[in-house]
Amino acid sequence: MAGDAPAPRLPHRPEKGDRTAVHRETGKYHDCKKKGIYVCACCGTALFSSDAKFDSGTGWPSFSAPIARENIATAQDTDLGYVRTEVLCARCDAHLGHVFDDGPPPTHMRYCMNSASLRLLVQG
Ligand SMILES: [Zn+2]
Repeated sequence: MAGDAPAPRLPHRPEKGDRTAVHRETGKYHDCKKKGIYVCACCGTALFSSDAKFDSGTGWPSFSAPIARENIATAQDTDLGYVRTEVLCARCDAHLGHVFDDGPPPTHMRYCMNSASLRLLVQG
């Protein structure tokens, strides 16, 4: 699995086509303020509520807690030469992002997610 590797470079010859759209896709939820449930883009498991979303200033959608602990799995990731905690979908094993312990109270957790791994089911 590619993890958080940067998106492949776009060709210098921009075309009005899907490549640009795919590139934008990776950050589409970072400033999204809509209410709803973020589910796994692969299997639809509910992962995060918009209520737990906060602006971390990182450009990544960030959450202080998952909607249910059993819906996510974690694994140690040493891809960058230091230990991070990778977050996976507990049901389909999709890579979702990473979790850090520098989030806001009361959980102090920061689930730093990849927009491409999430799908927002807008409520209301
Ligand atoms: Zn999944």
